[in-house]
Amino acid sequence: MSTAFEIVDLPPKGKAGRRPSAAKPSVIAEGMKWCNKCQRTLPVSDFSKDRGKGDGLYFCCRECDRRSSAAWYQANKERRSKYMAEWRAANPGYAAEWYAANREYLAEWYAANREHRAEWHAEYHKANPHLRTAGLYRRRGGTSEHVITLRDLNRLRYFRQNNQCALCSEPFTDAPKSVHLDHIIPIARNGSHSIGNVQWLCSWCNKSKSNLLPVEYRMKLLKEGKDK
Ligand SMILES: [Zn+2]
Ligand SMILES: [Zn+2]
Repeated sequence: MSTAFEIVDLPPKGKAGRRPSAAKPSVIAEGMKWCNKCQRTLPVSDFSKDRGKGDGLYFCCRECDRRSSAAWYQANKERRSKYMAEWRAANPGYAAEWYAANREYLAEWYAANREHRAEWHAEYHKANPHLRTAGLYRRRGGTSEHVITLRDLNRLRYFRQNNQCALCSEPFTDAPKSVHLDHIIPIARNGSHSIGNVQWLCSWCNKSKSNLLPVEYRMKLLKEGKDK
């Protein structure tokens, strides 16, 4: 994840785990709020909503929030991905069930965090240019009826497919171009560009399947004696 913002040295923490805020002005103008982390008075629009707080706003500004999440994420990235992979292997099907059970909650959350998500997507795209395939396929597919988001694709890859090739179950590596988005019914054969018609394949399977329908591909493998 990129850190587009400037890293500023913060004053040391006080005794109670709180940073001293001697700099906090005694009067804060209407529509402004003091961020105790970066020690600045900022417009309230620079703060996320937090229903649990008296003023309905998160205690620090978005920039500080983003900075501490990014730092935490970096520090825990490897440990967490290893843990997640092990956990997913031990609990197959859990993610799909969870998404089904929390559909309403997720829809609400997405709506409430629209702005945040747009920002996050922009940053993610900048950091992962090789994942721009969704846009490419959307153009090729032609219709705007079925729009697949990056989140859909990640969910498919990491949760539904457990980061493995959908056909040969080979685990994906992090090498660029080792993961290919395949249309189960090819676009060239009137398949749609929808999340129900895509799967992630390794480069071997992707090349081998090419523009074949699933049944044709199975026949091809049978003929070649490669079917398991
Ligand atoms: Zn701040
Ligand atoms: Zn494969």
